[in-house]
Amino acid sequence: MKQTKLSKEIDRRELANKYSPFPVYCTELIEDLKLEDKMITKKDNYNNVPVISCKTCGSLHIKTVRFNNGTQDGVTTDYCVVCSNTEMEKLHIEEWEEKYEELHGESHLDSKEDDGS
Ligand SMILES: [Zn+2]
Repeated sequence: MKQTKLSKEIDRRELANKYSPFPVYCTELIEDLKLEDKMITKKDNYNNVPVISCKTCGSLHIKTVRFNNGTQDGVTTDYCVVCSNTEMEKLHIEEWEEKYEELHGESHLDSKEDDGS
């Protein structure tokens, strides 16, 4: 994972504090910076998470159904709520955005079909 500018600055300040007889930088501020850094990293990671979408219509409205078939664990199947297809694909969020635009001719952000769920 790439180190953010912020986390480098945190490291620098912590190191300065460590080798100094008294804290050079406010430790409370460093804690605040750490929290902010964590949030930024989390956001970065969020964008890297692959999405499961319908292979046919690109919808992210997927439901999982479980068939028990007499077994303890059963079998689960994902299906698209929009078109009932059971073929899914895993895409990076940016790939999915491109595909969605290709399929619908508009960005999912502009879509008025979104039912908000
Ligand atoms: Zn679908």
